[in-house]
Amino acid sequence: MDTKPHVVVIGGGITGLSAAYYLKKQMEETGQACRITVMEKSDRFGGKISTLRRDGFVIEKGPDSFLARKPALVELARELGLEDQLTGTNPNAKKTYILSRGKLHRMPPGLMLGIPTEIMPFMRTGLLSPAAKARAALDLVLPKRTADEDESLGHFLERRLGSEVLSQIAEPLLAGIYAGNTYDLSVKATFPQFHSIEQKHRSLILGMMKNRKEGGEESRTLPESARNTTFLTFREGLETIVHGLLDALDNVRFVKQCGIAKLEKAADGRGYRLTREDGEIEEADGVILTLPAYAAADLLAASKPEAQELRKVDYVSVGNVILAYDEKDMKRELDGSGFVVPRREGRFITACTWTSKKWLHTAPDGKALLRCYVGRSGDDRWLHMSEDEVVRAVRQDLKATMGITAEPLFTELTPLMHSMPQYPVGHLDRIRRIREGLAKRMPEVLITGAAFHGVGLPDCVKQGKESALELSRLLKE
Ligand code: FAD
Repeated sequence: MDTKPHVVVIGGGITGLSAAYYLKKQMEETGQACRITVMEKSDRFGGKISTLRRDGFVIEKGPDSFLARKPALVELARELGLEDQLTGTNPNAKKTYILSRGKLHRMPPGLMLGIPTEIMPFMRTGLLSPAAKARAALDLVLPKRTADEDESLGHFLERRLGSEVLSQIAEPLLAGIYAGNTYDLSVKATFPQFHSIEQKHRSLILGMMKNRKEGGEESRTLPESARNTTFLTFREGLETIVHGLLDALDNVRFVKQCGIAKLEKAADGRGYRLTREDGEIEEADGVILTLPAYAAADLLAASKPEAQELRKVDYVSVGNVILAYDEKDMKRELDGSGFVVPRREGRFITACTWTSKKWLHTAPDGKALLRCYVGRSGDDRWLHMSEDEVVRAVRQDLKATMGITAEPLFTELTPLMHSMPQYPVGHLDRIRRIREGLAKRMPEVLITGAAFHGVGLPDCVKQGKESALELSRLLKE
């Protein structure tokens, strides 16, 4: 019988695979012995990451890229020997548009996360009324909030920059990342830098300007691939990182098409007992749970307070509609990376990425690839429609906004049910309570992933790595 400690990583998305990778690496480097199993409910690894190749197009059905300035994923790519496969956005696709009163307007240059860092383009934009610009300028003199409690992203931005900047610019850009409502999202959990900038610099605009300048200097320490681009992806698609991880994880046991239904302490109090969906039992000395919060809650039903807290993290379902065209059918020049749609425009789509322009490797010559999003908190119309109806509604919006009437070469709808965690006000305190409770009841069970400290792919890699290092330390004690 193998007496080495057994660690089970539950969930084979980017968080789980990163956790397995860094656990294996740490064990090898410190000479600790350990067996690792990754248990995945679906029939494939990668979780939300899913790349499709069709007719010469590279199509992302889930995430399509990641932030270059957050180093965890670039570092992982480098360790896996994949850095040369990274690619940045097309430098000729820097413009982003926003739909306002039915027309596409260019976002003023210099916006960082929706906050102006260049004064002249902001003062000249037709997106905002003169009163809204004057209100935003008040940020330069308004005092900072002294209370340290969390508040919603919407209230924070409205307080600093006014309601029009929030609804016209910041909301579609920022809430788009979470498909959420800014008034329901925690500022400390979603954009912690806003809270700390206010505390440090008082003015959000001045603080963001300073960060931008320093960010420029910091970027010199980033690897070549991550400089001079906001986003990165892999030329052959994001699944490159998934395959790279799977290849590196030799000696790791992978089980797919078999979720874990229950996780509890072993009867003798030593280690953990995991009940698989097929009824088999796995015994483990340590567990890293990397599931959506609601799925983790089901597993932890025996640990009631934590399960109840986990169920309070809401999720929004979104759909991703890919449309491939002949380039000649584009009625306007694709001279940017696409556009976002504020709620008050009342459209069906929430954003449209001009994918083939933003990422030059994604379409064959002479073809265009568009990617539209549907669904956000408070708007689940698409869930009650057939696939044909969804595609028809998307095409109506493309006709109204971009004048496209041609029949697409093909379309692909990817429904991503309960896929976007909504970090509510007080989220960080809830996470702390969940982790403290688990540490008492099940000390070698760590819980992490997109439901906790960031939904972005680099955030997930970072969280997977941190959990791996923590578990290896706990197993050593
Ligand atoms: P998941 O990928 O959800 O993996 C969890 C895994 O657990 C799944 O494989 C699931 O099948 C499995 N599982 C569930 N229950 C069980 C069980 N009981 N037992 C065993 N296994 C189980 N981020 C970016 O950085 N850039 C983007 O461009 C971007 N775009 C996005 C677009 C969309 C439409 C969505 C939905 C998200 C996007 N994100 C983006 C966010 C990012 O994709 C996710 O936050 C990230 O992929 C989550 O990884 P994860 O491993 O934590 O979770």
